Amino acid sequence: MRKQSPALEKYRKKRKFGVTAEPRGGKIKRGGDAFVIQKHAATRLHYDLRLELDGVMKSWAVTRGPSLVPGEKRLAIHVEDHPIEYNSFEGTIPKGQYGGGTVLIWDQGRWIPDHDPRKGYAKGHLDFALEGRKLKGHWHLVRMRKRPGERQDPWLLIKSQDDAARGPKDPDILEEKPKSVVSGRTIEKIAKAEGDAVRESKKSIAENVKRIKKATKAKKIAPKQSTKNAAKKPKK
Ligand code: MN
Repeated sequence: MRKQSPALEKYRKKRKFGVTAEPRGGKIKRGGDAFVIQKHAATRLHYDLRLELDGVMKSWAVTRGPSLVPGEKRLAIHVEDHPIEYNSFEGTIPKGQYGGGTVLIWDQGRWIPDHDPRKGYAKGHLDFALEGRKLKGHWHLVRMRKRPGERQDPWLLIKSQDDAARGPKDPDILEEKPKSVVSGRTIEKIAKAEGDAVRESKKSIAENVKRIKKATKAKKIAPKQSTKNAAKKPKK
């Protein structure tokens, strides 16, 4: 097997590739500045914020999603690094698998850190701008102290005061723009499409089994071939 960077070890350990359609992630390529937010209807609906840093997507599960209101502090649970290939993942993670549920690409673009992002990430304080399709302007991501018993670091995602900010009475961006920036679909539509695809594939498997059974039966009742010919046939 190809030698792989340990950066995504945690990510890979949690998933069964082949069961889930999520990407395994290839070689680490540094230098990008992508950001993505994926709406994820798992056991509990949340929005995964991912910022590219040194070849991986640093990831936070924002439980209530981002808010454009500067006073609103949104809890962002720090989770394992994801591969950059994950940014284009939209679909359904099978039930019973890690993160089982439907994923929608809610926003994407690039992020521009105000300071050295490595230092900021290590320190637990990132100030940055987002140039997304939905989210723009300046943001803070600040690490909180972990409480006893908490496994993952809680951070807070907070909008800065600027032209892209909204007031508490303005429309909520999550409700205003719920659709995928890639496919234009709602989470319900993606979930339904996947359900249809699964039903279709189950149906076609069942039909194939029927066809094989029929063919085998036909072969059994077919006139006996000479032993010479039968010997040439590959064993089943
Ligand atoms: Mn998630």
